[in-house]
Amino acid sequence: MYVAMTDIGPLSSGNRTSLVPGFSPAVRSPWHDPAWHYIIDLDGTLIRDGAAMPGAAALLEALHGRYAIVSNNSTDTAVGMARKLRKMGLVVAPAQLVLAGEMTVNWLWQTSPSARVYLLGSPVLRRYAQRVGCRLVEQNPDVVLLALDRAFNYRKLLLAVNVLRTGARLIVTNPDLSHPGGNGRRVPETGTLLAAVLACADVRPVSIIGKPSDVLFREGLRRLRAKPAQTLMIGDNPATDAAGAVAMGMSYLLLGTGPEAEAETPAQLLETWGTRHTHL
Ligand SMILES: [Mg+2]
Repeated sequence: MYVAMTDIGPLSSGNRTSLVPGFSPAVRSPWHDPAWHYIIDLDGTLIRDGAAMPGAAALLEALHGRYAIVSNNSTDTAVGMARKLRKMGLVVAPAQLVLAGEMTVNWLWQTSPSARVYLLGSPVLRRYAQRVGCRLVEQNPDVVLLALDRAFNYRKLLLAVNVLRTGARLIVTNPDLSHPGGNGRRVPETGTLLAAVLACADVRPVSIIGKPSDVLFREGLRRLRAKPAQTLMIGDNPATDAAGAVAMGMSYLLLGTGPEAEAETPAQLLETWGTRHTHL
């Protein structure tokens, strides 16, 4: 169901694809084959620093609704994110967004509805958890739920470390250490806060719900009614997007500037697909 942090091993490149294996050579462009579905990452793949990346809207349009956006974002709800995306020119329905923070709260509520939860996260995620029915506490929690908390501080660290040392479970929305900001900046993420907690608490196991674990991928596939073998993951992070896709038996394709990247932006990807698949 979920992975311990220590289980995230080296990447396999078994399913890496440059020309999307499985597509018939007669298929003019991958998105013309209705049998295929797409799971798409958000940060660094469709948006960057609060703006849509070049070609992001065109890519979504080309996929004719056969996609789910699966993101390790832990600060927003799907409804709030859909609103933000619309302002960036990306029209996406909340039902097409699978976000790590919201999914972690849902999972926790479904598996441990009576748990007393110490939640470190955004005000939006706290409100969502309360709305769902989670019991948020600051004393004697059964669970520490760690998400990206931009108000993380020493007091919170002190509290979290000590309740974990006396038996509370640690559940984490996503393992990312950072995500890209504007002007080459690096934005510290939940994984960095987790490193601070683990440096002092030394607790195992740690349940991490976001990619590369299977929880978000499975939810994306469920919403699409898609089979992994005919689903392509488009992302920018080898450790979360690619590793998770490989573990699920899905093909993947990376954007960005890394050595494995197929294209730098969605616009370049569309260009690549357009020129490489024009056999008909
Ligand atoms: Mg990303």
